[in-house]
Amino acid sequence: MRLALMLTLAFLFQVKTSSVPKWQASDDEYPSALELSEDGLSLMEPAIVPEPKDGSRWWYTPSRRAHVHSAKAKSRLMQKMMSNKVNEDLRLPGDVLPSIYSIRLLPFIEEGNFTTDGHIDIFVDCIRDTNSISMNAADITFKSLSITVLDLTTNSPLAIVDFVDEQVTREIVTIKTATPLTAGNRYKISMDFTSILNDELRGFYRSSYMENGVKKWLAVTQMEAPDARRAFPCFDEPNMKANFSITLGRKTTMKTASNMNILSTNPIDGMPGYVWDYYATSVTMSSYLVAFLVSEFEAVPTSTTHRVPFRLWVKPQSAHLAGYSLSVGPELQEFFERYFKIDYPLPKQDLAAIPDFAAGAMENWGLVTYRESALLIDVPRESRGRRQSVADINAHELAHQWFGNLVTTDWWNTIWLNEGFATYLEFPSMDAVEPDFRFTDQFVVIELHYVFGVDALETSRPINLPVTTNDEINNMFDAISYDKGSCIIRMAADFIGLETFTRGLTRYLNARAYKNAVEDDLWLALQQQSDEEGVSLPATVKEIMDTWTLQMGFPLINVTRDYNTGGAVVSQERFLLRKDPGSTDTHVYRWWVPLTYTNGGSLVRQIQWLSKDQASRTISNLGATDKWVIFNYDQQNLYRVAYDTENYRLIAEQLMVDHTRFLDNNRAQLLDDTFVLASVHLVPYKSALDLSLYLKYEKEYVPWNAVLSELNYIDSMLYNQPQFSQWTVHLTNLVTPYYNHHGFQESTLDAHLTVFGRSDAMSWACKLMVPDCVDNSKAKYAQQMASPDNTTILSPNQKSIILRTGVENGGQTEWDFAFNQYKSKYDTSYLIAATKSRDTSRLNTLLERMIDSQSGIRLSEVNTLFNNVASNPVGNPVATDFLVNRWTDIEQSWLGTNYFINFFRYVCNRQNTQAQLDRLLQLRTDHSDILGNSKTVQQGIDVVVENIKWMELHQEEIGNWLSVSVPTTTTTTTTPSPPVPAGSPSVYQTSAILILVFCFLGLFIMH
Ligand SMILES: [Zn+2]
Repeated sequence: MRLALMLTLAFLFQVKTSSVPKWQASDDEYPSALELSEDGLSLMEPAIVPEPKDGSRWWYTPSRRAHVHSAKAKSRLMQKMMSNKVNEDLRLPGDVLPSIYSIRLLPFIEEGNFTTDGHIDIFVDCIRDTNSISMNAADITFKSLSITVLDLTTNSPLAIVDFVDEQVTREIVTIKTATPLTAGNRYKISMDFTSILNDELRGFYRSSYMENGVKKWLAVTQMEAPDARRAFPCFDEPNMKANFSITLGRKTTMKTASNMNILSTNPIDGMPGYVWDYYATSVTMSSYLVAFLVSEFEAVPTSTTHRVPFRLWVKPQSAHLAGYSLSVGPELQEFFERYFKIDYPLPKQDLAAIPDFAAGAMENWGLVTYRESALLIDVPRESRGRRQSVADINAHELAHQWFGNLVTTDWWNTIWLNEGFATYLEFPSMDAVEPDFRFTDQFVVIELHYVFGVDALETSRPINLPVTTNDEINNMFDAISYDKGSCIIRMAADFIGLETFTRGLTRYLNARAYKNAVEDDLWLALQQQSDEEGVSLPATVKEIMDTWTLQMGFPLINVTRDYNTGGAVVSQERFLLRKDPGSTDTHVYRWWVPLTYTNGGSLVRQIQWLSKDQASRTISNLGATDKWVIFNYDQQNLYRVAYDTENYRLIAEQLMVDHTRFLDNNRAQLLDDTFVLASVHLVPYKSALDLSLYLKYEKEYVPWNAVLSELNYIDSMLYNQPQFSQWTVHLTNLVTPYYNHHGFQESTLDAHLTVFGRSDAMSWACKLMVPDCVDNSKAKYAQQMASPDNTTILSPNQKSIILRTGVENGGQTEWDFAFNQYKSKYDTSYLIAATKSRDTSRLNTLLERMIDSQSGIRLSEVNTLFNNVASNPVGNPVATDFLVNRWTDIEQSWLGTNYFINFFRYVCNRQNTQAQLDRLLQLRTDHSDILGNSKTVQQGIDVVVENIKWMELHQEEIGNWLSVSVPTTTTTTTTPSPPVPAGSPSVYQTSAILILVFCFLGLFIMH
């Protein structure tokens, strides 16, 4: 399944997705991170997280990555601590185990009905004598007289004495028999039932879409984690694998799809206009992988021939958006066949685009389901970020066909064996099918630096965490399972050796195929492969990896060199962004740490180990003492590194002379580690800022992307302070050469990371008023104003920045244009642009319109609007004044009191003075009925307190550094980009037209 990474990618690439699914929606209307990401500035702005509902609180840090997920982490831990259900018996006894399910379902997908008539025969093996058969069911109505248990050895029915229905409390039903079932015998359990086609996006549920003004209904499944029990009674635990023989009824106007291929279709007796589709029996698999789709969708086949045929199910009007996934899907699946040397075992593969879908996508074996935005894309008209995201989600789900479907986690505590691997495998597979994306090169900024934020909070959790209740199980689908999982796998691949490791994975898959696995099965396979290939390790794979999966967090490695002896003392401690003084955690955190390092003399990777019993050790002979040393070679490992001041000086010196002596990942690491360590007062800011001076020579996307969010925090703190002008000069000196390198104009020949790098560079260059960036953006904005309906003028990769810059540097006319475009086109990017004005009266007008229900602003965008005004440096005081002075007007408007908590939280991020804090505290006191008990409000206060502390500790320090290190004016000049001839099509327009033509031809061939 794909949840967390969707979030990550949305942040990185501004994916526009739908809002939080209904069944996850909270009482307060919080914008999801995904909604906020529509803002082109989201890379630079900390986002808001929903308030925990469980009484927990969470901490702000300067790192946006930590900030975004900290609430989730806290929420999860508190839920676990507060839950009294941990020991409640929700597991099935395992006395009988299923071998074959024969399931017949007839869904009525009609308003006023929405139920499914079902009949099931479950063939079970009795493992231990018992006279009660327990299985899972939820929201199912049983026809009690239909329940039978047949002894297949004697072909005689067992008398049933009771049927215990505990669906509401335990999601379990139990059939009691008069005589016991006997171990070693086989039985057939049969029953008729009715289930509900719910609107909760789980189990077998209904969804709809509009076609030519007519509402069309469909029914589809989402069974993971424990929701197959809502569609049919079953043994709904991942290690109770069985074969599924499915029959689906439908109207003849509809079609069905399931995991396997259809064998035959017959009319339903007594029901004219209805037929049964009989499906082939599935391979052995877990119940959470069962899938059905009953719809009026079109099944679009691939235009190329493959050993395993691929189709994409989509509502007819979106069929033209299927091409890209149909192109990369089969290539990805065939890559995995080569990579694992194991064929995909099913006769076909279907991908389906579902209008209402809770997760990003779901890897059902043979029928992978996606939310529409995760599968469908209009390649020429949408951004590179979207394209990468679609390919990536396909890679993730198709990797699951092996890691998850063929070999399945034994229980949900180790869901990382599914999700961490599917995440890890996105990278090699994407490199194979979209080499231009350089996806593996992006690993550190997509996964590793993100995990550093999430896992550096005391509220994190171990990767492997015992879980029992459904809430606990669902909470396991988080950044720790997905992203941290992928990071520790990558680390193991590095210390074992990538090729040996990959062969070890094949060994594991073959050993556990069609079965389940626990962590030790994986460690054993990797150990056997390592032993066979003579890989030498300081401890067993299990001993090493247990320290990474069974305890939370990750180490900070302190390296203190001895410049007399040429060695160093290397120590480990858990890295925390903030230590809670009231913490009761007494665990001693130690890991088996692969200390990979190199020095300025050799550049050769070396490895030594810190054992889990060593707080520190000495490494001798690190090379010449006048040369730098760096640890975490190629940043393959999950730890941060801090050095002594002299080593930082040597590194900074090398960066200025020739930064390419460090690998791209190590440059990203140096920037990210050092700025984060400085922000939490562990190294002087001077070390980080000295490192950053070399950025004027840096042209690569990954190091730049790694440092921008950290620079943004300093930028937002120093705004309006005496140091700000010098800070701006410093940033301009760094960013301008990067911007000049990429230039403003896109080209069809641009490499993927050039496009990404240009977006980052433009975003900052325009913000810093680099003339070429501003002038070109203004010219494009003027072109768009002249042709408001022309959608090819602005590149999707540049659109948000151009709109923002056009408004920032424009007058009333430009602002009016943005607002009117928003109203007439429902295009949120124009509304966000309008919030970027530097004119306070226009921002006030926007807030006035926000409380006017007739202004054309949609309720769903109120949070986006206010948050973006509040994050605008000019707008922050405007938004704060509006909140304080217009409280009653807001309350009496169509917004009511629903938005106050969010509004309060949004204005906090940029505030860093005692006077601002006092005003906020007074506001909370004045409106204690609404703000008083809110954890979100407290979080906002915490943010301001942390900001004030940061200012006390670092404002002067940074100011001193700036006055010594930065000239008073900008030293770099801008190379103007060639002007865009008015009236002639841009490169983008030309490519869009060409690709549209190809798309049309492609569709023509397909039909
Ligand atoms: Zn997944």
